[in-house]
Order: sequence, then structure tokens, then C-alpha cells
Amino acid sequence: MPRLTIDLAKIRDNTRLVTGSSAKFGIDIFGVGKGLCGLPEVARSMLAGGCAGIGDSRLENLKVLRDSGIDAELMLLRLPELSRAEEVVMYSDISLNSELSTLRALSVAAVRAGVSHGVLLMVDLGDLREGVWPDEFTQLVTETASLPGLRVWGVGTNLTCYGGVAPDDRNMNELLRLSRLAEECLGYELQVSAGNSSSINMLLSGQLPRGVTNLRIGEALILGTETLERTLIPGAHSDACVLTAEIIELKEKPSLPIGQLGQDAFGEVPTFVDRGVRRRAIVALGRQDVAIDGIKPRNPGATVLGGSSDHLILDVHDCPELRVGDALDFEVGYGAMLALATSPYVRKQYLNS
Ligand SMILES: *Cc1c(COP(=O)(O)O)cnc(C)c1O
Repeated sequence: MPRLTIDLAKIRDNTRLVTGSSAKFGIDIFGVGKGLCGLPEVARSMLAGGCAGIGDSRLENLKVLRDSGIDAELMLLRLPELSRAEEVVMYSDISLNSELSTLRALSVAAVRAGVSHGVLLMVDLGDLREGVWPDEFTQLVTETASLPGLRVWGVGTNLTCYGGVAPDDRNMNELLRLSRLAEECLGYELQVSAGNSSSINMLLSGQLPRGVTNLRIGEALILGTETLERTLIPGAHSDACVLTAEIIELKEKPSLPIGQLGQDAFGEVPTFVDRGVRRRAIVALGRQDVAIDGIKPRNPGATVLGGSSDHLILDVHDCPELRVGDALDFEVGYGAMLALATSPYVRKQYLNS
């Protein structure tokens, strides 16, 4: 069975690297474990590495974290479903919001549950995912503040997710301008939650403007990468997650299929380069488990040729040492990790727990 090995000490080290830097600027880090299905072991490593709280996009994951005894602040990152307001106030301390109708439902649920629910109000600064438009922001702030059971916790934005918009001086200063307006309306200080792993370069180089107090960081803590250009953070581990799968066939075959070509198993018409007869391996892993473009064999001579639902085909001509039954290790990207973590066909295994 393929397995995903998660090195908890490496995630803790990566987290320390980021929190060590953010602390100098008065910025708290909420660790985001959604790329690994919100596993409590991963959340604990992030907390041990200095995170102030944990964020996740799924209520199901937050519930598991709470039930596992984690008592750090939990933040629901995806805007709540209006129909699940009761669960939102039960399993998260803070949720990201941009819809007044949802906020009204959260208010009713919070009053009923006897809790004060924190709200991070989101503004869209151009990436075009969640958030109200800046000119509607103060109205959302005042209306939210009037709802019982809710407490405006902060002002936030999310960048580099849908539109690929980078954080810069212009959008960061706009966020701070809006947070000051909101603070004037409310008469108390707010958290300013400026973004995700695409803010890492600005954070590490001290370029985030004063006034930013919070970042929600996932990928950088797990894979050690910033996400503007996906470069490795200096000193971070890139191999906290490693995929391992077994060779089930190893044969010499031509590199061109034989016969008339139609579509492949996924409705695409594949193309091939004739490199003659090559040694190829089939590994017990497929598109049902992982985005096959997002993995890279650690064995230097091996390359992924393609794959179907349950078979991954590699060129291993330059790896004469390999045998049927051997395990191959792969580095994983974020999308691949996300799918592997979700697949019930992939065993999860921890190192250094
Ligand atoms: C996923 C997510 C994050 C964390 O993103 P990374 O790129 O993994 O750091 C932060 N904020 C929101 C709203 C998210 O959905």
C-alpha cells in the first residue's frame, strides 16, 4: 500500500523558522494543516513550533482537532455554510466572513450556545476569491458589531489564491487603512490578518508594514516553500512529506505504443517520443490517489511517464539496481499532498512523533 510519511520534527522545525522571524515583527502565525486533512499530530507540531492557533478550511477537521484535546484557538478559514452555523460556533473560535446573512445566523447560534464567536471580516483586495469590496467594508463592520454573540476579531484578506495577485505595498497599505477605519468605528484594536504562504518573502525580509499582526500559514510550514514562486525557504526542510510506493512490474518495452491511437483512460490523446526500447516500471499508485504531475521520484534516474487511475508508469532505464517489490520514494507538491492525505488508499505514517 502506498504511504505518506510525515516527519513531525521537520514540520516543527519549519514552523520555528517562520515563527522565529514573525515574532520579531509582532506577528502571530496561525498554522494551517488543511493540506494534510487537519491531522492533530500535524497541528501539535505547528503549536510546538510556536503557532498561536490553528486554521483549517473544513469544520470536520476542526472537530477532530477539538475532540483530540487541542485547546489552542481554532479558526475556520473557508467562509461558513449558512446552514451549519451551530457547528461553526461549536468547533471554531474564529471564522472568516463576508456575508451579512451568514453573520446573522452565526449570531443566533452563538447566543443560543452562550459563546462569543470571533469574526475575521474579509476584504477582497483584487485576488477575486472571498471578501467584500473595500467600499462596502465599514458598513459590514458596523453591522457585524451590532449582532449579539459576535465579536469582530480582525480584518483580513486573502491573496495569491484565485487571481495569483501578490501581496505588495499597495494592497497591504489598503488593508491597514481599512483596519484603522474599522478600529475607529469600534473603538478597540483589531487583528490584521494579511495572508498566507505567499507573504513569506515579505515577512522574512521585514517588508510587511507595521500593523500587520497575523498570518495564516500552511504550505510554508509543511513543505518549506513560499508560494509566490514556490522557492524553498532558506534553512527549511523540503522533505517533511515523502510518498513511497511499490514497483509491481519492471520490463523493457518500446517507448511508442503499437497500433492505432485513440484516447487514453482520461479522454486525452497522448503523444510520445521515440527513445527506443526502455526499461519501465509500473508502481502501485494512480490518479485516484494523487495528481501525478505533482510528484517527483527521489531516485535521480527515474522519471514519471504517465499514469491511469491505479497505475503509475516510470522510465527507470538508468536505474539498473531496481527490482520488482522495491519501494520508490517521491517528493510531493502541495496539490499532490492534498490528494494523498485525502485518499483512503494511502497509509499515513509519522516520524518523530
Ligand atoms: C489555505 C488558506 C491559508 C493557508 O494557505 P497556505 O498557502 O497553505 O499558507 C490561509 N488563508 C486562507 C483563507 C486559506 O484558505
